[in-house]
Amino acid sequence: MAKYTLPELPYDFAALEPHLSAKILEVHHGKHHKAYVDGANKQLELLADAREKKDFSKIALLERALAFNVSGHLLHCLYWQNLSPKGGGEPTGTLAAAIQKDFGSFENFKSHLTEASMTTMGSGWGVLAWEPALRRLMVIQLHDHESLAAVGMVPLMALDAWEHAFYLQYGPAKADYFKAIWNVWNWADIQARFDKAQSVDLGLKSAAA
Ligand code: MN
Repeated sequence: MAKYTLPELPYDFAALEPHLSAKILEVHHGKHHKAYVDGANKQLELLADAREKKDFSKIALLERALAFNVSGHLLHCLYWQNLSPKGGGEPTGTLAAAIQKDFGSFENFKSHLTEASMTTMGSGWGVLAWEPALRRLMVIQLHDHESLAAVGMVPLMALDAWEHAFYLQYGPAKADYFKAIWNVWNWADIQARFDKAQSVDLGLKSAAA
């Protein structure tokens, strides 16, 4: 049976300094992300066990934990690949054009994603996603890793707003983290995801015009 696995970071722990410290990356990847990988695999085991025993008395709790851990794992995989020591600046090409069309300007988009991320109540994420029915970009705010998500959207760019993403380095100066991260976005990675998302077809006739 296939299992979820913790991918290696595509760069050294210190590669994103001074914007994100080596200590943050080491703990965030090796402890926090790993816990979601282990949690997702554990929930799958517990669900298989429940089917085996025909005991669905804890099904709602198990499904909730499955959504939380699988989403936590996949969002972190996206976050690591979205960042690069050679990142920063602004996107170009078709992604830049789509941002212009759907948000008015890059500055508007940057403010929208930053504000959506910073204002999560408790823990969460701000995400740039492709909505295949309207065929446009949208910014969504996730609570935890999965609540407030809209079905069918393809996440392209994920901004981790959990305290574990910044507190060791920035402490309560939260706004500094949300500013610094714009120096390390890997626009080539986000563009490649945008290109791939164009072929997603939900097959929902007349859902948008
Ligand atoms: Mn995280």
